[in-house]
Amino acid sequence: MNTDIDKIKQSIRDIYDFPVKGIVFKDLTTAFKNAKILNLISTNLTNLYKDKGITKVVGIESRGFIMGSILANNLGAGFVLVRKPGKLPADTIKESYKKEYGIDTVEIHADALDETDIVLIHDDLLATGGTVAAVLNMVKRFHPKKIYINFIAELEFLKGRDIFPEGTEIESLIKF
Ligand code: AMP
Repeated sequence: MNTDIDKIKQSIRDIYDFPVKGIVFKDLTTAFKNAKILNLISTNLTNLYKDKGITKVVGIESRGFIMGSILANNLGAGFVLVRKPGKLPADTIKESYKKEYGIDTVEIHADALDETDIVLIHDDLLATGGTVAAVLNMVKRFHPKKIYINFIAELEFLKGRDIFPEGTEIESLIKF
């Protein structure tokens, strides 16, 4: 009865009132530090995309870098970094988005992607979806052939999927 998905789910730790009071933070470090769980996440995510012809995985700073780069390697794809402003060294394009308090910005190198790419955007967790929706808009400016979006876990009660345009292909392994 204990499937891969149950095992992964049980390995994620709840941290109450982090980073602010009232938030239950899903801490994936307890999943990543366990070799068997790390492998289960990697295998299950790779299986979802192995036939899609992914050429680039776009990982979001910083927790999206961990499984994002593993996935890129498993899929025979390259890895592209989305970072907070001022961190990438070469020419970048940026996208700003509204957060609960104030505005945030994400950046990607201007030569990171092109029209021949099939892109998989990866982050560890879908909460409100604000960050990844901004990354999606930014990636679309490169006019890749196709864009997929992937998370390890999703907080379904926040309805983050609702902010994406209809037809956006979103997958997550674990639902809370
Ligand atoms: P979002 O609200 O979807 O834009 O979330 C932004 C980022 O914050 C995501 O990359 C998540 O990794 C992280 N995040 C937001 N809420 C949580 C939470 N409750 N537990 C763990 N990570 C979270």
